[in-house]
Amino acid sequence: MPELPEVERATRLLRRSLEGRTLIDVQTLHPSAARSLPHTVAQSVLGHVVTAVERRAKYQLLTLDDGRVIEVHFKMTGDWAIGPVSLDPPPLERVRLVTDDGTRISLVDGRAFAVVRVHAAGAVFLPPLGAEPLDRDWSGAVLREALARKRGPIKPALLDQRVVAGLGNIYAAEALWEARIHPLAKANRLSVARVTRLADAAREVLERAPSARYYGKRATENGYTYALGDGDDESWRVYGREGEDCARCGAAVKRIEQAGRSTYYCGGCQRV
Ligand SMILES: [Zn+2]
Repeated sequence: MPELPEVERATRLLRRSLEGRTLIDVQTLHPSAARSLPHTVAQSVLGHVVTAVERRAKYQLLTLDDGRVIEVHFKMTGDWAIGPVSLDPPPLERVRLVTDDGTRISLVDGRAFAVVRVHAAGAVFLPPLGAEPLDRDWSGAVLREALARKRGPIKPALLDQRVVAGLGNIYAAEALWEARIHPLAKANRLSVARVTRLADAAREVLERAPSARYYGKRATENGYTYALGDGDDESWRVYGREGEDCARCGAAVKRIEQAGRSTYYCGGCQRV
């Protein structure tokens, strides 16, 4: 599933191709895509200029010149394939956007769970979302305030989208390892120094991700540029490494269940 860094990368790629351009063709090519973007709605955006392409959590938001917003969520397997309209359509194309400069932007999606919706100007459609770890204002103070009302353990608290927007299960575990904080530590009892370390770690693990994961084997294929491609295998510090030696202290990496999700951590150097 695309995580926050991948969605950030996809948004940047989309922005380069779409911002300031006019949509001259929009097609839904799969029944599941047509459920969220019916033909008549798709037709209603033709002739409109995309004035801004932004990301909030894992939502890509395309603002039109009439104030409407096209929401895109990749869900499990969504990706952009971008290339000239003269090329054959890419495999697994579910939604097609064509711009006035002859660029085809295809939402490709093996599992076909991705969502494209058009919202009225001013409509409130996003769930309540906390601060973004990749934003400039992100800090220990911001995170501490968000955690103040969380009485439970820190790991599930980090997955609460109202606390941190879009961190995700893998990066929450990695950030806790980086900050040497045990996933069962009480969220609102962490010291100022530890929360600051955790906030820095959350940003760090997300920023580090691109070099390892972006531009997978399929990043370009048949003339198309993919936002994510296949992705390269990421080497996580603790995620998915149950029973292996911790890279920092050598103790065994453990796995527990928290709120129905697997949590990986080092029993040696992550303290409650
Ligand atoms: Zn360790």
